[in-house]
Amino acid sequence: MAGGNEQSMKALKKVWKRAENSLCADCGKPDPDWASSTLGVFICLSCSGIHRNIPSISKVKSLKMDYWDDAQVQFLAKHGNAVTKAIYEAHIPIYYYQPTYNDCQVLREQWIRAKYERKEFTEPGKLPYSDGVKEGILWKRGRDNGQFLPRKFLLSEREGCLKYFTKQDAKEPKINVKIDVINATFQPEKIGNPNGLQITYLKDNKTRNIFVYHESGKEVVDWFNAIRSVQFHYLKVAFPIANDNEIKNRLTRNFLKEGYMEKTGPKQREAFKKRWFTLDHRRLMYFKDPLTETDQLEWIRAFTSVINQAMTPQEYAIEAYFKFKS
Ligand SMILES: [Zn+2]
Repeated sequence: MAGGNEQSMKALKKVWKRAENSLCADCGKPDPDWASSTLGVFICLSCSGIHRNIPSISKVKSLKMDYWDDAQVQFLAKHGNAVTKAIYEAHIPIYYYQPTYNDCQVLREQWIRAKYERKEFTEPGKLPYSDGVKEGILWKRGRDNGQFLPRKFLLSEREGCLKYFTKQDAKEPKINVKIDVINATFQPEKIGNPNGLQITYLKDNKTRNIFVYHESGKEVVDWFNAIRSVQFHYLKVAFPIANDNEIKNRLTRNFLKEGYMEKTGPKQREAFKKRWFTLDHRRLMYFKDPLTETDQLEWIRAFTSVINQAMTPQEYAIEAYFKFKS
């Protein structure tokens, strides 16, 4: 402890121990031990790193290792997580994805910047991703050579779809996907880019993947929330009796588990081959490798319907068709 006034450190502990300050103000991680002396929030180590990159807005200090003077402690006591959230999170649209500590860096950083730097939620108003239409360039991974190339994407609430075009001036889109069959999740490691987004959709009863990124973290998170916004409004119309939270829970399905397994064929006599499996809340899919665009579910579908009805992923994993490779 950097010496100083024992009384103010005692007072600091008292504020710190308040129930409202027991979770990180930004990601919800328990037992935060850092705080912003300018915003008055208690945050975790990892969020404090993001705050440190926005010095015009936030000055962070350790609650354990740094000295806090009287005025700073009083500021924390007056603010704290509840009061500060009431200001900066006053008008978060229901479809906006609020990341937790399990989410990737780009989502957490843009959430913190949206809140405190851009002050997107302090007043109700028009957000960059809520217009019902978004158009722009995303770098899309090519099917054959794995190279990323700029492609024009168009999201439209009125048409209820997401399209992309191979050529800037093309009239016909390369794909035109209905908004309700899209699932977008961040997959920075798999895609090999911190802003990597995987867009999954169903077509002709097959799961297909598009892998994209944008150089700007803000832009890629705006796309992600724009897709959620359009989906939310589409589902509101399609399911008028569902409440907002039920619809919100349907917007993004993060994968429960992904990884390599070896599988044999339907006769169970075929040689085992290494394949990339993805389990989401509804389906088990498999692909030739992590970045394959189309699933290979010739025979697994029968079991998928079983999963939908009763089986837990654990029960499913016991199925004799699979041999886990640790
Ligand atoms: Zn945090």
